[in-house]
Amino acid sequence: MSKSTESTTVEAVENEATTSSIQHTPTLLQSYLKTLRVPTMWREASTVARQIAEHDGSYELYLQQLAELEVQQRKAGAIARRLKQAQFPVNKEVGDFDFTAVPKLNKKRMVDLAQCNFINLRSNIIFNGPPGTGKTHLAIALGREACRRGYKAKFFTASGLANLYREAREERQILKLEKQIQKLDVIIMDELGYIPLDRQGAEHLFGFFSQCYEQVSLVVTTNLPFVDWPQIFANDQRMTGALLDRLTHHVHIIAIDGDSFRLKANIKNKKAATGTKPAKASKAPSTANTGNANAKPNQPRKGAIPPSK
Ligand code: ADP
Ligand code: MG
Repeated sequence: MSKSTESTTVEAVENEATTSSIQHTPTLLQSYLKTLRVPTMWREASTVARQIAEHDGSYELYLQQLAELEVQQRKAGAIARRLKQAQFPVNKEVGDFDFTAVPKLNKKRMVDLAQCNFINLRSNIIFNGPPGTGKTHLAIALGREACRRGYKAKFFTASGLANLYREAREERQILKLEKQIQKLDVIIMDELGYIPLDRQGAEHLFGFFSQCYEQVSLVVTTNLPFVDWPQIFANDQRMTGALLDRLTHHVHIIAIDGDSFRLKANIKNKKAATGTKPAKASKAPSTANTGNANAKPNQPRKGAIPPSK
């Protein structure tokens, strides 16, 4: 820009500013707020001005209220963005969880974990228990809470993540995937143990756990006690041992025991429909590869790798 053009532009702005200092020009105010990228202030400027005038409020109060609306809107937008990016399959909250259905689960402990300090400490959480007992519900609920508290979260199923690695490897994009993972604060890995992994999948997940160690917090749900984890990782005892060593270095293990909530809900519905007294809900059956699904990982069976705190 030449010197003469520059001075003309400065003059024009000064003229504009002089005009606006003597009279309120809505379009000019709008264009300034647009330039400053404060869309909520821009949208709410006249409404708040009316409210302030009605209550004889000061100029400072006007500005404060507008700024507050802008900040609130930005925070809400950021939370919505983080929740969307996390890709939770369903919306579940700690508040919707019926703790009376799982008396052995300590509600206070869950509420404490929902404060998300475990993420600052780079600790992990493992939910272990039979199907239908609310593991995924609670893992998602913690992830959603993390998003609301400003952390970047992402949901994967264990097999989905193994596939993602496989695809990334085929496309020579592993480094890119690892960079994306590194940017996250907490990852929810659901259903570890439901589908055994082949050698390559096991190695990918081993790499994933190593990468996340003391860098990214993990919330893992599984139906298998630790002693059976080699089944998931291509029956490789050494790799599974090394993986568990890292995963359980800083860990909260939540063992959920009890009947399947789905099963109980089904029985309740049937009872309501027929008016008959249903048979008592049986313990959720464990599938062929679940082993002792009710075994608590913090009380491992003989041969299990004991978790360290
Ligand atoms: P899991 O992952 O242990 O197999 P889910 O978390 O998928 O079980 O739970 C199955 C269904 O039952 C979900 O819709 C979940 O919201 C609900 N559910 C399970 N336990 C509870 C509970 N204690 N309170 C409220 N809903 C529950
Ligand atoms: Mg589940």
